[in-house]
Amino acid sequence: MKYCYECDNEKDFHFVGIDRTYNVKGKGYSLAVQASFCDYCGQEIFDPDIDSAYQQQAFDLYREEHHLLKPSDFKAIREKYGLAIDRFSELIGLGKKTMWRYENGFIPDKAQNTLIRLMDNPENFRIVYEEGKGMLRPDEIARIEQALAEFKTHGVTECVIVQESAEWTPEPDNIISFEELALRTEWKKEARREYAAVL
Ligand SMILES: [Zn+2]
Repeated sequence: MKYCYECDNEKDFHFVGIDRTYNVKGKGYSLAVQASFCDYCGQEIFDPDIDSAYQQQAFDLYREEHHLLKPSDFKAIREKYGLAIDRFSELIGLGKKTMWRYENGFIPDKAQNTLIRLMDNPENFRIVYEEGKGMLRPDEIARIEQALAEFKTHGVTECVIVQESAEWTPEPDNIISFEELALRTEWKKEARREYAAVL
């Protein structure tokens, strides 16, 4: 039973498969959806929960098309550095609520998306962190320092932007174990993919 506005009462209903167009930033995405219809009057019973799930599907299509991060990606990048939503947002120069919006399903602005994607790389984040350190509390600084130290230990030190042209110089410092090499290669593969996606 669902509440039907037409009948002004709880009524039995059935799901019917229909095509529905959802608009995302001026572009329409046609989705095959299951809509509920009242068994008594035949009118559609609007279900906001189901509808918002479909709206999110349309958002996902738009994100894929425009190489935008998903809400879970935004969250994962921020959590890498142990900062609260509003603090991470402010540190990288965005409005207090911006990260909250993106982590909660809003479609990101392309330039802001690129900025946040670059923060995924600890070396990029370090630059922003060093510049904005003054606004951070001691406990926040401690968490970031710890995170950055851990990334360093695992060999993730190169910058996404410059590493493509960086040349291998066989100095004693550069001798690493096979284990470390495997880690670095894996990471570079990932970084190249991300770099390509940014472009
Ligand atoms: Zn009805």
